[in-house]
Amino acid sequence: MRADAVVVGSGPNGLVAALALARAGRKVLLLEAAERFGGALASAELTLPGRVHDLGATVLAMALASPAFRELRLPGVEFAHPPVAAAHPLDDRPAVLVHRDLSRTAEGLGGDAGAWLATVGAAARVGLPLMEFLLKPLGPWPLWPPPRPVTLARAARFGLAAALPATTLARSAFRTVEGRAVVAGMAAHSMLDLRSPISAGYGLVLAALAHVVGWPLVRGGSQRLADAMVAELRSLGGEAVSGHRVRRLEELDAPTVVLDVTPRQFAAMADLPPAYRRRLLRYRYGPGVFKLDWALDGPVPWRDPAVAGAGTVHLGGTLEEIALSEAEAAAGRHSPRPYVLVVQPYAADPTRGGHTLWAYCHVPNGSRLDMTGVIEAQLERYAPGFRERVLARHAMGPAALEAVNPNLVGGDIGGGLASLGQFVRRPVWSPAPWRTPLPGVFLCSASTPPGAGVHGMGGWQAARLALR
Ligand SMILES: Cc1cc2nc3c(=O)[nH]c(=O)nc-3n(C[C@H](O)[C@H](O)[C@H](O)COP(=O)(O)OP(=O)(O)OC[C@H]3O[C@@H](n4cnc5c(N)ncnc54)[C@H](O)[C@@H]3O)c2cc1C
Repeated sequence: MRADAVVVGSGPNGLVAALALARAGRKVLLLEAAERFGGALASAELTLPGRVHDLGATVLAMALASPAFRELRLPGVEFAHPPVAAAHPLDDRPAVLVHRDLSRTAEGLGGDAGAWLATVGAAARVGLPLMEFLLKPLGPWPLWPPPRPVTLARAARFGLAAALPATTLARSAFRTVEGRAVVAGMAAHSMLDLRSPISAGYGLVLAALAHVVGWPLVRGGSQRLADAMVAELRSLGGEAVSGHRVRRLEELDAPTVVLDVTPRQFAAMADLPPAYRRRLLRYRYGPGVFKLDWALDGPVPWRDPAVAGAGTVHLGGTLEEIALSEAEAAAGRHSPRPYVLVVQPYAADPTRGGHTLWAYCHVPNGSRLDMTGVIEAQLERYAPGFRERVLARHAMGPAALEAVNPNLVGGDIGGGLASLGQFVRRPVWSPAPWRTPLPGVFLCSASTPPGAGVHGMGGWQAARLALR
């Protein structure tokens, strides 16, 4: 097919770009290197036959909040919500539970109920307009459509707290062990040293999303979402080819090319003006992850049974412990007691062939150390007897992750460091960073604003520019 537009890479950003272009009447060819479509939305039987594991994203709150995904009507995609959005177990006291309901969550925080309402609650009460505003973020690039003044004002107030390091927000606004720990657990999703500016912002947004849209997953596995998007593309006359890795732009014959790749890959694919190329090569990748998937013979035996209902569980204990673990990863060291992010899909979805579980911890970019024992020790700490439930396990360190998906450079699942500098310079400082100096060539991956997560907004912005 001679295409009007070629999209390289079928992660959520590539898929959204492809659909936006196809809906605007363009003939779209989507090329994906892997055998499965979806990028970090793909699922596979990683452990035992019939067990569905998500290779990457499972908890798709951002998809529900994203204008790009809300525009799509995808038959066969059903979101399921766990009874509890997130849990944060502690050694010597009950776990902190983040419910969909704001007041219930605040009540559970006792002495920090007011702090939760004043920080996370304030963001949650603005609701979807704030989330949309953040997904089309404030920066040098134009905001379109322009947000209402009241949203702007509230976003500015939110921005003051969001700009802080998570450790500062936790220590200044919260006074209980529980309150401070849950802020750290949320903020650590950013993969930043929690003493870095804006690490509080990531935590506040994620926590607020739990109250605004919930932290749902796709019944049957995230692959269903990717497959539904590919089916929709084909129904619009587009073509989607998997197992086709693009190495150079010269291979492509189309007036518009949208690349769901990171800066280093783009620099290797094209002859770029030297100044732009240098800026791309200065782009920094963040820590990597070491991920484990398990097939279990039953639910995780959490010491606090309330954790069983949570889709996501943050392990690592107190603010101090989590901050130390994240500082180690950011400094290029392995923490012996790392922050571990656990996802238990069975809390919401019984259709994945039994009790499947995944978890990762942050490691230095490109790390080769096997973190299986360390991660399982953190699980044993909060769920004694966990190892006895394991029927099979599958491990992926940074090299294995990058082999499955070249965008996961050195195991970085965020498409680049989420620092303040790279919040506004993603991957370069520009009013429209999705545009490149090559005519008709656009970038759309998580290395463009608004960054990591399944929201498709990079693809949406790139397609919007391409259609202009
Ligand atoms: C383990 C893990 C857990 C995560 N958990 C969550 C979560 O729960 N919730 C959430 O919101 N986000 C999560 N994320 C992050 C989220 O998945 C990513 O931010 C998001 O998928 C980025 O989308 P993308 O389209 O930019 O790129 P990707 O999803 O990385 O897709 C890029 C695609 O491009 C393809 N590609 C690259 N180069 C080429 C080439 N040269 N030729 C052809 N194809 C190419 C790749 O094979 C890949 O399929 C997670 C990520 C990982 C890895």
